[in-house]
Amino acid sequence: MDAKKNAHRNARKNIVVVGAGYAGLTAALRLDRKQRITLISAESHFTQRIRLHELAAGRPEVTVPLSELTKGTGITTVQARVGGIDLDARQVRTEDGRVFPYDTLVYALGSRTDTTAPGVAEHAYTAETAGDLRARLDAGGGDLVVVGGGLTGVEMAAELAESYPAWRVALATGGAVGAGLSDKGRRHLARTFGRLGVRTHEWTRVTGVGPDGVRTDQGVITADVVVWAGSFTVSPLAAESGLAVDERGRIVVDETLTSVSHPDVYAVGDAAAVQVQGSTNRMSCAAGMPIAAHAADVINARAAGRTPEPFRFRYLLQCISLGRRDGLVQLVNGDDSPKDRILSGRTAAFVKERICRFTVASLRWERARPGTYMWVKGSARRTGAEAHRAQTSAAR
Ligand SMILES: Cc1cc2nc3c(=O)[nH]c(=O)nc-3n(C[C@H](O)[C@H](O)[C@H](O)COP(=O)(O)OP(=O)(O)OC[C@H]3O[C@@H](n4cnc5c(N)ncnc54)[C@H](O)[C@@H]3O)c2cc1C
Repeated sequence: MDAKKNAHRNARKNIVVVGAGYAGLTAALRLDRKQRITLISAESHFTQRIRLHELAAGRPEVTVPLSELTKGTGITTVQARVGGIDLDARQVRTEDGRVFPYDTLVYALGSRTDTTAPGVAEHAYTAETAGDLRARLDAGGGDLVVVGGGLTGVEMAAELAESYPAWRVALATGGAVGAGLSDKGRRHLARTFGRLGVRTHEWTRVTGVGPDGVRTDQGVITADVVVWAGSFTVSPLAAESGLAVDERGRIVVDETLTSVSHPDVYAVGDAAAVQVQGSTNRMSCAAGMPIAAHAADVINARAAGRTPEPFRFRYLLQCISLGRRDGLVQLVNGDDSPKDRILSGRTAAFVKERICRFTVASLRWERARPGTYMWVKGSARRTGAEAHRAQTSAAR
């Protein structure tokens, strides 16, 4: 019986990773290479999403070929869009009609800007269309409005104002700009926006975008160009396939990052709903890369017959670039709430740039030596599964 069990354990498993962003790549590169690993990606390259506002502002390149990041690892890379997942048959179907059977699935399809508000898809640019935005801004000046007072909107507004002085930049948001920051952090933002000439429309509920500008509850803010930097949304594929998801469509996982509905499926990065220090993970590389690394560790542990550790993580910083020469590093508590301490100016810009480089360097290190990526671990509090169970029983 034991011999049978060992033979089963030692058999090479098909591990399919869908999505080659920060999370999918981290997981794929860290998996035990004795297994058969297939990485399915819509593109032939990895996009440094955290630099897309820089791309809009003129940075020449924000991608790295997947062939370079997976070279020598034995990982099979497939360029295709995932079109469906058959959880019963344990198969991934791509839009070009191919089928990939799996023993273990790592779901890492990430997120994108939510463009469902009226007129946004037709009339606004987003981080995902940063290349087109740049071409438009290069073509001439005028009024530009960024919608969204979160970190992406703030970075976008500052970067564009610095790089395109011919454009008058404004930022509109339903609340306060940088609402999650400390008072000191918000004051630094205000000073920087003042220096860069970015006008702000706070507490202005944006209802949509038209050809003439941004529609708000206080009238139209006229604009030649609108950049939509509202919230992120995830692919409907997880919910459509029958995986248990939260109210935002993110896959609910337990403390081992395993789907609470399908134990062959692990979810990582923005696509996963993971309990971190009492609340769901912020959609970020800051949380997404540790989640992905830990999921790979869990898969490796289980394949070797070991009991996996629960996921532990604490937030440390929120790093915001404010153009190339200024920035804001907000120190945070383990649960991501702001501390009073910030770094600002060139020091913060330097830290932010190092962190951006570190994300890609980590992938290269993981390729060369799986298991090298490390993160700061917090206490194991209530897990996704526990929160899910609590929610379900409360609903009953
Ligand atoms: C402008 C900007 C600045 C940001 N700055 C920061 C920051 O400073 N710090 C931070 O922590 N976070 C930041 N973020 C957020 C961060 O980029 C995301 O949280 C992070 O990219 C999530 O990683 P991921 O691997 O889960 O998803 P992604 O990076 O989105 O990768 C998902 C991958 O899956 C692919 N994919 C999607 N659907 C399919 C499909 N059907 N078939 C095949 N492939 C598919 C996508 O093409 C993509 O390659 C920023 C985001 C933006 C837009």
